[in-house]
Amino acid sequence: MSGAKSSSAIETTGTAEAVRPYRGRFAPTPSGPLHFGSLVAALASYLEARAHRGEWLVRIEDIDPPRERPGAADQILSQLERLGLHWDGPVLRQSTRNDAYQDAIDRLLRLGMLRRCTCSRAALAALPENRARAPGEDLYHPAECVGIEPGLAGRHALRLRVPDRDIEFLDRAQGPQSGNVARTHGDFVLRRRDGLYAYQLAVVVDDASQGILDIVRGMDLLTSTPRQILVQDALGFARVSYMHVPLAVDESGRKLSKSDDAPVVALAGPGLQLAAALEFLGQRPPADLWRAGAAEVLQWGVANWRPDGFEGVTTRPVPDAGRREAAKQEG
Ligand SMILES: [Zn+2]
Repeated sequence: MSGAKSSSAIETTGTAEAVRPYRGRFAPTPSGPLHFGSLVAALASYLEARAHRGEWLVRIEDIDPPRERPGAADQILSQLERLGLHWDGPVLRQSTRNDAYQDAIDRLLRLGMLRRCTCSRAALAALPENRARAPGEDLYHPAECVGIEPGLAGRHALRLRVPDRDIEFLDRAQGPQSGNVARTHGDFVLRRRDGLYAYQLAVVVDDASQGILDIVRGMDLLTSTPRQILVQDALGFARVSYMHVPLAVDESGRKLSKSDDAPVVALAGPGLQLAAALEFLGQRPPADLWRAGAAEVLQWGVANWRPDGFEGVTTRPVPDAGRREAAKQEG
């Protein structure tokens, strides 16, 4: 199906770059409902797109069934609707895109840019370079494979061969960035041993095919960016621009878990949630906006959008929306 489709997508990307219309996106993983951190990413990408009079697309990143929760995708979409974050065009679901991902893999194989690997996660986790990494974190792969398991000869992952050099890019919120993937991750997985396509591949193929040239997302994905640039370069796609927005943390600086921020999203109405997210993004919503409906808050947000409100900010505590909610009820 998508042989012709992906090549026309590349041409579209080239054309889009010449004209440079703004097209942004929000791409949640359906592992649960939107929490405050994902609301911030959705709102920032929406405002950046609308402030540029651009399009804003939504893509559901459902390529990893074990991480997903049934019903979560529909729950996220209905939350976005309730927040007034209306998207353009159809929602793209990654679970429908395997042909496009396999086309990309086939091209990289033909170019000799992939290596087969039978390393188990356990064997990689035991390496000194990986001992400090948290469970679930991406692991470093050394130049030579380790721990080849008998009986797994037919099952292998495909990893991108990465050059030992700094990948540099200018983040529109965080400034100049640089990362050497060979040192931080080594050759990294594009198709897993279980046959599933890796996030780092799917996100790049989909952004190119959807003509996305401007990505606004949370700081937790900053460390993925050099790897995604390598995949773009390997596939001959246009480079895109990045803006990484601060990560919501609790008072002790830890990344929020879904239960931590439940009060912000579960108890507050849509207008108040959006106002809290605006404040988090350094947008200084006026006092009366905290009592407004979602549409009015978004209208103010687009008209007053100032990305320098979070320039250089990597984390921020969640605003006390509970206090705001109480003030609203008293007022
Ligand atoms: Zn290996």
